[in-house]
Amino acid sequence: MTDFLIVGSGVIGLLMARELASAGATVTLVERGACGQEASWAGGGIVSPLYPWRYTDAVTALASEAQRCYPQIVRSLIDETGIDPELEQTGLLMLEADDAPQALSWARQYDSVMESVDGKAIYQRAPDLALGFKQGLWMPNIANVRNPQLLKALIESVRKSANVNLIEHAQVKGFEIAQRAGKSFVQRATIDSKGQTAELQAGEFVITAGAWSKKILQPLGVNLAVEPVKGQMLLFKPPRRLLQTMVLTKGRYLIPRRDNHILLGSTLEYSGFDKSTSEDALHSLRQSAIAMLPLLEEYPVVKHWAGLRPGSPDGVPYIGRIESYENLSVNAGQFRNGLVLAPASARLLADILLKRETAIDPGPYKPERSA
Ligand SMILES: Cc1cc2nc3c(=O)[nH]c(=O)nc-3n(C[C@H](O)[C@H](O)[C@H](O)COP(=O)(O)OP(=O)(O)OC[C@H]3O[C@@H](n4cnc5c(N)ncnc54)[C@H](O)[C@@H]3O)c2cc1C
Repeated sequence: MTDFLIVGSGVIGLLMARELASAGATVTLVERGACGQEASWAGGGIVSPLYPWRYTDAVTALASEAQRCYPQIVRSLIDETGIDPELEQTGLLMLEADDAPQALSWARQYDSVMESVDGKAIYQRAPDLALGFKQGLWMPNIANVRNPQLLKALIESVRKSANVNLIEHAQVKGFEIAQRAGKSFVQRATIDSKGQTAELQAGEFVITAGAWSKKILQPLGVNLAVEPVKGQMLLFKPPRRLLQTMVLTKGRYLIPRRDNHILLGSTLEYSGFDKSTSEDALHSLRQSAIAMLPLLEEYPVVKHWAGLRPGSPDGVPYIGRIESYENLSVNAGQFRNGLVLAPASARLLADILLKRETAIDPGPYKPERSA
């Protein structure tokens, strides 16, 4: 029997498995499809919330802790696997934010490096931007990570670990519940793998199934306010570097990658579990890209995709034990910020499960708050 059975292997599940295994626990990680192909693959990889001052303290606490951990995690993944997640500190230029005074006061409060920039400073950092931007905010320390590479490295790291048993193409269909001393506990999970049913036992069960977490927990009487929120993205492949920094305006952003690729994100659509892309979104996203960086008009969109974010109220994830069960916990609902929040989210739940001291107060993320 394994110590922990983790359901879902996006960035959260993979980091949870790595955390628990590195502490000596045995882990079975069960993934419905192939690892790391859902929201964690689809995202942009900005290692910061967009407009970070518009979030609650609970999101800021996780984001700050995660930003502190990211360089070390990336270094250790490169050492372990030889795969580089390409963490690039390009900085983030935010244009046309109409709440700049609040942003600057938030930055002072949280010791975050942010400065107000005028037109001259904007075009020094991004000379090819469309003309007319007069005011902006500049956060030089913000990085982006090439999330598909990050996932590759995490999968490789988990595969190499003697403590992790990774089972792909196996969907968790349900759980068998029993009672012990007046409290419910999960005895085993039922898995469907290529038409075959299997039962898996574990000491603890951890749900990291992103947008699907609510569906998995509902039959257990747990009502988590997590819903799928679709985001569509575009990829351009210019032959030379057109942009040195990330740029954000009117909720849409450009992310330059190390190999000159530029990503444009993203839509925010409440349309259930539908993951299709649309011509309307393609047109609107492409127009946004060109409105920021007119040179992109010369280059075709080489890829257009969609992913389902695990949406939650205020973007505050659910991290912790489910109190009505002895051995069931959840780590889901990171919404638009799962890639940045992942290291701190995984560390927090691992600390709780391993009864270690937590780096941040777990109170605001308690799953019960949505019941
Ligand atoms: C377009 C877009 C742009 C984004 N940009 C950013 C960004 O720039 N920065 C940032 O920080 N965040 C960003 N995000 C958000 C981020 O990608 C997500 O918050 C994060 O990836 C969620 O990770 P996860 O592991 O919880 O979910 P997922 O990556 O979705 O993983 C959940 C996994 O659970 C599996 N699963 C589901 N049900 C079952 C089951 N019954 N049995 C077994 N397995 C199951 C799924 O197959 C999946 O692999 C973006 C998201 C999108 C869609």
